[in-house]
Amino acid sequence: MWCLMTDANNIVFLNGQYMPLSEAKISPMDRGFLFGDGIYEVVPSYNTKLVGFALHIQRLKDGLDAIGIKLYMGLNEWREIAQNLMDKNGGGNLGLYFHVSRGADNKRSHAFPEHIQATVFAYAFGIEAVPLINKQNVKQFRVTSTEDLRWKRCNIKSTSLLGNVMHFQESRNKGVQETLLFNQSNELTEASACNVFMVKNGVVITPALDHQLLPGITRCMLLDILRKEGSLQVQERVVNMTEVRDADEVWLTSSSKEIVPVVELDGQPVGNGTVGDIWQFAQLLYSANKYNY
Ligand code: PLP
Repeated sequence: MWCLMTDANNIVFLNGQYMPLSEAKISPMDRGFLFGDGIYEVVPSYNTKLVGFALHIQRLKDGLDAIGIKLYMGLNEWREIAQNLMDKNGGGNLGLYFHVSRGADNKRSHAFPEHIQATVFAYAFGIEAVPLINKQNVKQFRVTSTEDLRWKRCNIKSTSLLGNVMHFQESRNKGVQETLLFNQSNELTEASACNVFMVKNGVVITPALDHQLLPGITRCMLLDILRKEGSLQVQERVVNMTEVRDADEVWLTSSSKEIVPVVELDGQPVGNGTVGDIWQFAQLLYSANKYNY
């Protein structure tokens, strides 16, 4: 269900209170605003059923630990906020955005201030219903590729997203949907807002986790689901761009998009330039199992 959300009827959570988005205010001295000093998460929900919630909250906690923000909120407190946002915003298909910044100081100084309270913000936004698992109707992505010019801590889901935003905008400027990123050794890292998978001769391959890519929750769930089903070989390893250009299929994964088939890379067809059978198999399996996480 799509509902028209305006700033006045979109109820958000800010520092312990629920209010219309139009009334939610933070200080311009907030370090999230000044430095991008914060961590965020996006969790999908379909008809109020959350996907991968505990995994998302664990990644949020890992991110807060990694940047030294102390916030004593447990899984149940986050779950209560998620439930309240879904209830107050009409349910349906909603993405839930959670954001914790280090908070506001009274001066701008790079050093972490000692005695400020973290700013906690969460809001809901409409997302598309479960994707069509149909090769003919699914949205096919065309992508380009470029050297990954972001920082060396891409495993942290930081709100400092300018590097990602600039790479994403490159794809917009070229009239395609995403940008695949590779490091100086011509190895695939991820895309500006998604993880990347490729398929070659029936083997599903994705870059191994390290500081160069986000440990995507969709990636993690998909790998687990494929391994449990067991009929396809799955590899997490270094992936060279030459292999990606020679792949039979390329997919993007993210919480709001699930698994997206890529049919064109840098103007060249991926495989035979159509949506692959293994994508269809993987998306079917993912849809059938995603609420188990
Ligand atoms: N990589 C980047 C850079 C992202 O921004 C995202 C999602 O926002 C992903 C990967 C996919 O992560 P997830 O599956 O947890 O949504």
